[in-house]
Amino acid sequence: MTISELSAEIQAVRTKIAVLGQLLYEKRLTDAAGGNISARVSSHICITPRYSGQRRRWRLSAEEVLVTDLQGNVMHGEGAISRESKVHLRVYADFPEARAIIHAHPLHVLAFCVMRQPIPPVLEATLKFGVIGVTQFAPAHSSELASLVSEALRGQETRMKQQAAAVLAPWHGIFCVGCDLDSVFDAVERIETNAKLILMLRSAFGEAALQESQQALARSVEHWRKS
Ligand code: 13P
Ligand code: ZN
Repeated sequence: MTISELSAEIQAVRTKIAVLGQLLYEKRLTDAAGGNISARVSSHICITPRYSGQRRRWRLSAEEVLVTDLQGNVMHGEGAISRESKVHLRVYADFPEARAIIHAHPLHVLAFCVMRQPIPPVLEATLKFGVIGVTQFAPAHSSELASLVSEALRGQETRMKQQAAAVLAPWHGIFCVGCDLDSVFDAVERIETNAKLILMLRSAFGEAALQESQQALARSVEHWRKS
């Protein structure tokens, strides 16, 4: 890739991050308290500045999305990178499959984070993420949180390559890691829908009926795989 092709790609990714950030907030897939988005382009990382939610309510321009090297040193743009950048940088360092990351605070996913409950797939559309687990606690912005997220993603490389893998941080939010920005955004939205459905279905139909549906989903998919 030539220098000008690389910078055109970086510019396109910065634009996409700014657009997806706004959409993430408008679709209530994160709140003003936080969330952050990044993507790796060759040996560069495009990442949202800190307080994109709190201070900007996700109204970012492409130029406000920062470009760093793989260590997080800012190369283009003004200001400081996301306070959750330790997680982003650590995951890129540990997984060559990771090309884009979204950390978000979606309301119904947060319910599972608060109760430290994993999110099982209840839809055909979320089977590919498996049961989304919860890490041990480490404070927001800490390097311990980066280690816990990275450990939880170990073994989920195929999911990252195909679309995305996700992990929940207790009392905090979701980290979703995948092959490109669109795939990761799509994953966050599917997982939030899945989480909302679990909460709705439990109160409307009861836990036993929901479990029956999950088992029937697994059986049905298996049946079609074999036939
Ligand atoms: P930043 O605004 O620094 O990206 O942090 C938000 C967040 O969600 C922290 O966990
Ligand atoms: Zn957060």
